[in-house]
Amino acid sequence: MRIYHRLASVLSLLLAPAVGAAQGTPRIPAARLDSLKAEVMRGVDAEATLTQQMVDMLFSFGELGFQEVETSRYLTDILRKQGFTVRQNVYGLPTGWVATWGSGKPVIALGSDIDAIPQASQKPGVAYHDPLVEGAPGHGEGHNSGQALNITAAIVLKRVMQRDKLPGTIVLWPGVAEELLGAKAWFVRDGLFKDVDAVIFSHVDSDFSTSYGAPTGTGLVSVEYTFEGETAHAAGAPWRGRSALDAVELLNAAWNYRREHLRPQHRVHYVIRNGGDQPNVVPRRASVWYFLRETDHPHIAALFAARDTLARAAAMMSGTKLVETRVLGAAWPRHFNRPLAEALHANIRRVGMPPWSAADLTLARAVQREVGGDTRGLDTAVSAIGTGVDPDQNRGGGSDDIGDVSWVVPTITLRYPSNIPGLPGHHWSNAIAMATPIAHKGATAGAKAMAMTILDLIASPPLTDSAWAYFRNVQTKDIKYVPVIRPTDKPPIEMNEATMARFRPAMRRYYYDPTRHRTYLEQLGITYPTVRPDSARPR
Ligand SMILES: [Zn+2]
Repeated sequence: MRIYHRLASVLSLLLAPAVGAAQGTPRIPAARLDSLKAEVMRGVDAEATLTQQMVDMLFSFGELGFQEVETSRYLTDILRKQGFTVRQNVYGLPTGWVATWGSGKPVIALGSDIDAIPQASQKPGVAYHDPLVEGAPGHGEGHNSGQALNITAAIVLKRVMQRDKLPGTIVLWPGVAEELLGAKAWFVRDGLFKDVDAVIFSHVDSDFSTSYGAPTGTGLVSVEYTFEGETAHAAGAPWRGRSALDAVELLNAAWNYRREHLRPQHRVHYVIRNGGDQPNVVPRRASVWYFLRETDHPHIAALFAARDTLARAAAMMSGTKLVETRVLGAAWPRHFNRPLAEALHANIRRVGMPPWSAADLTLARAVQREVGGDTRGLDTAVSAIGTGVDPDQNRGGGSDDIGDVSWVVPTITLRYPSNIPGLPGHHWSNAIAMATPIAHKGATAGAKAMAMTILDLIASPPLTDSAWAYFRNVQTKDIKYVPVIRPTDKPPIEMNEATMARFRPAMRRYYYDPTRHRTYLEQLGITYPTVRPDSARPR
């Protein structure tokens, strides 16, 4: 495989005047490819009900990272019925799976995240905060829609490939616990992508777009520090005790002083996961969980090292021990592949934005008004291809563990228009559109672009060669991937177990039943859209 790529990239360098130009003989002539693309677009439209049901079903499960039990069971059932070979409980992840169909080259892996957000429970189609289950998790990012897009594209494509005896292998995989950056680095470490030629990752957005190069944003290491002291009666003999919570507070204080002397690109935030048991018992154990983000790997490593020094110092100052430094997640800064992004972008333009209804626009504007944003409604035009940012211009921001994948195989992200623009993110308002026609139409549009781009890869082996030439000669010319997770780190699969155990019984009453209701909105009896009367609007 690796030899194949090396040969391929040498050949494509010899043949191609510039990186990114696909040379050589396509497997399918252009006119035939064009009519196959038109056929898969019709095929995706014909599966719009299946797409809608998958979007709505995952929305109703609303499962947090590592606990995507119902989600994974439901999706793998569909894939098995469609003839895919499914392996479950993979790479140390009980909710992980890999579904494969086809044979031979190219091997194309389609990924999308599946986990929900804490505190984001929300009735879909209702333009103000109205949780289904108070305090419960919900799809306040929209990770309920990407697998629907990927699976629909794969099913439609499989029929065409079968009929025309086209070579190629489609691999589907879930972004388990993406909100915790908890799986993809492990997938990479443990070999999921070792025979893969290209990865197309889909992620919800309000825009319909893709990009190449390094986008704005960060990579990170997610790490938990645990201190151990000694209990004592906090009033009777406090001098006998040593407080692990003191260590946590000293560490946080030291870090908050350190911030002034860090580059503006950094983002560091923390929560105290364990602050002790009760006030009259000096806390014996305490732990604090940090996300350390920066825009490149050397700076992430430097944050990690500085933080370790401060943690050891906090233990010394408080007379406690630093007993554990546990890596809970990791993400490299992303870099996307230029030839693949250009192929995808041409297909996005061919599909165009979905037609929004008056009801869609009313909902979008009402939600934007509710959260205090500008009320521009929904995006109506496909945007230009993103060309990445200069390292100096990257001002930081969020992370996605697709970054790790992007450094071992040519990777692109398809951003599809299933949500409302201008919302805060990781918030109940980001869930409102996610089981409405906005999400359904966005996923269908995305599935078309996905299916057509896979066809491009099957039709034209030189596209794969160009992708690898870019990967080897441009992307990884000066930057080499160094995993942040260590060989012994295990994904923290116990996380969110207690939260889901608490909320699942109440959430189960709202699981979507497509045998009885056409849509989830219909099942919930929600009028679409439901907006506040003018007088009740907050000022
Ligand atoms: Zn996401």
